[in-house]
Amino acid sequence: MSYLDDIKNLVASDKKYIWHPFTQMKEWIEDEPIIITEGRDCFLKDANGKWYLDGVSSIWVSIHGHRKKEIDDAIKNQLDKIAHSSLLGLSNIPSIELAKKLIRLTDKSFAGLNPRLSKVFYSDNGSTAVEVSLKMAFQYWIHKGKKNKTSFLSLKNAYLGDTIGAVSVGGIDIFHEVFRPLLFKTYKAPSPYCYNCELSKTPLECSFACLNEMEKILERHSDEIAAVIIEPIVQAAGGMIVWPDGYLNGVRYLCDKYNVLLIADEVATGFGRTGKMFACEHEGVVPDIMCLSKGITNGYMPLAVTLTTDKIYNAFLGEFKDLKTFFHGHSYTGNPLACAAAIASIDLFEKEEILKNMQPKIAILRDKLREIADLPSIGDVRNKGLIAGIELVKNKSTKEPYPWEEKMGWKVAYKAREEGVLIRPLGNVIVIMPPLSISLENLERLLGVIKGSIISATR
Ligand SMILES: *Cc1c(COP(=O)(O)O)cnc(C)c1O
Repeated sequence: MSYLDDIKNLVASDKKYIWHPFTQMKEWIEDEPIIITEGRDCFLKDANGKWYLDGVSSIWVSIHGHRKKEIDDAIKNQLDKIAHSSLLGLSNIPSIELAKKLIRLTDKSFAGLNPRLSKVFYSDNGSTAVEVSLKMAFQYWIHKGKKNKTSFLSLKNAYLGDTIGAVSVGGIDIFHEVFRPLLFKTYKAPSPYCYNCELSKTPLECSFACLNEMEKILERHSDEIAAVIIEPIVQAAGGMIVWPDGYLNGVRYLCDKYNVLLIADEVATGFGRTGKMFACEHEGVVPDIMCLSKGITNGYMPLAVTLTTDKIYNAFLGEFKDLKTFFHGHSYTGNPLACAAAIASIDLFEKEEILKNMQPKIAILRDKLREIADLPSIGDVRNKGLIAGIELVKNKSTKEPYPWEEKMGWKVAYKAREEGVLIRPLGNVIVIMPPLSISLENLERLLGVIKGSIISATR
């Protein structure tokens, strides 16, 4: 059988056996899928031997790029010892070392601030890290004698994962509405999406009207609310919505004033993505509970953590018979291979001075975005660190969007694909999320191809 027959067989088997996530499979089976066979640095190779620039870090996880020697070696070394053993009733060396490293990292990021994150709870993906945070917050209040705090406050346009708890606090109707009958009740405050302000204000005259709306909910319902859960600074899957300065601080202030916990879902923003190790650092805010996943292992292994404070942890301490235990855990909790990958990935931040070396790249991104913003089909461009969102509109002056069925974001992505760049849009928002390690040349190429693709798709 020839090489091309092999590819045909792969494609046929994909279509026959796999149900892809977030995918209309009727369209998928009519299309030609790209099958990735290899990766290196910020490039991916397909079964035909064509190389692509990985413009979204393989769904936001590959912060140091593919086949990073230090991480490859860490996994190989760990493999010679043990691949998996659980944290249920046992412990293992990589999970201990990683927990210590994570607390040192947050101590450095949040030096001198309160509260202090001091405990690490492991799980294996962003959604489970969020589930853990919700259950932890809820049960914390039970232990404190506040049994009515059974609800949560979250934002419109929030995306916190796909499990039922995470969807309950989500706020993207197109994904979440169909599941409404299964969800628990939550309160929703407007998101600070200034380009399309839900309250029809402009940033100059709004005085954070959206925070006032949040305060009104807390004033009335704080005795029912366990926590406010947010994606700090950038609401990612909601369209790379970048918050105005001061909003996060305002949320922390309200949480303290109304005695509710603050949960920060840094699954997308953590590990340098916004130009600081954690997005909360931009405003010197420390959450009571913080969720991390995506970049934690550089995409090598599924891993997530939920960090919290002594105050919350201590509330769960008691006699066995008191049933104060946190009854939650997954089979893969603290997986040694995943923890070994995470340790190596975190060590690279220092070794390669990632945060410092990102700064010129952020400057280039900002300059090029300014040029792109002038195109007639662009309503808004936003960025923080090496995250950017480019919002396509049908009419720049009225902000009329392209109808979502038109899939304009995907039309741009398909054009970019022809030029050897892989991106994945969020509706009408083009996402730019390259590996933090991308070279200046490759970043310029990425932005050039995206600009050209927008021009030709919207012509
Ligand atoms: C991706 C994401 C999640 C969900 O993570 P999974 O690993 O896909 O379950 C949760 N929160 C945020 C902010 C995310 O970007």
